[in-house]
Amino acid sequence: MPPRQAIFGGTFDPPHAGHIAAAVCAQDQLDAGVLHIIVANDPWQKSAERELTPAHHRLAMVRLAFGDVDGMEVSDVEIQRGGPTYTIDTVLELERPGIESVLVVGPAAASGVSTWHRAAELAQRVRLAVVVPVGQPPADVEGWRTETVFMDPVEASATLVRELLAQRALHGDAPGAARLVPPAVMSYIDEHTLYSP
Ligand code: ATP
Repeated sequence: MPPRQAIFGGTFDPPHAGHIAAAVCAQDQLDAGVLHIIVANDPWQKSAERELTPAHHRLAMVRLAFGDVDGMEVSDVEIQRGGPTYTIDTVLELERPGIESVLVVGPAAASGVSTWHRAAELAQRVRLAVVVPVGQPPADVEGWRTETVFMDPVEASATLVRELLAQRALHGDAPGAARLVPPAVMSYIDEHTLYSP
């Protein structure tokens, strides 16, 4: 197998236990030299639907969540590039001769990859590693060279965390959110009064 690099992108608004578990399983199972954790600048399919937390805050939270893990590199390439975030641009920017790129996506993202910008070209350039709950069949995404990363499921989404934090801002208690977000990220959220309606 050629040397590989893995790429795990997201909005990370905010980063949570599901992201961390997916990244750790990807690192354990993909045999990639490095796992790039990439914070989207303007994920156009999401930013059309709601106002996102500014990218510099999301980057800071991702650095707190992942910064010290060996073999994982938090990257601001998409933020530096600016504008709408297209994964194909990121893959082209990170590509190195002789190194295979593996794009890591969770189950929800996997079902949408063929709607991404220049999807056919992206499918030519990367292998797609889909994070799948243990016990489910391996992933098979039509048109993509697919592999599977198995993970003990973590019932978390950024949407759920934002809802729990908004409830806490209104009612003063959110033990659920604190279970889903690393303590350093929780402190950052409090310090910058993020996610309070
Ligand atoms: P939102 O709820 O705002 O849509 P999200 O929790 O899905 O956000 P993203 O930053 O959009 O977070 O996700 C980045 C990547 O992490 C995507 O590939 C997504 O499928 C994956 N992911 C998110 N939550 C989980 C989870 N609980 N388990 C495994 N993968 C996940």
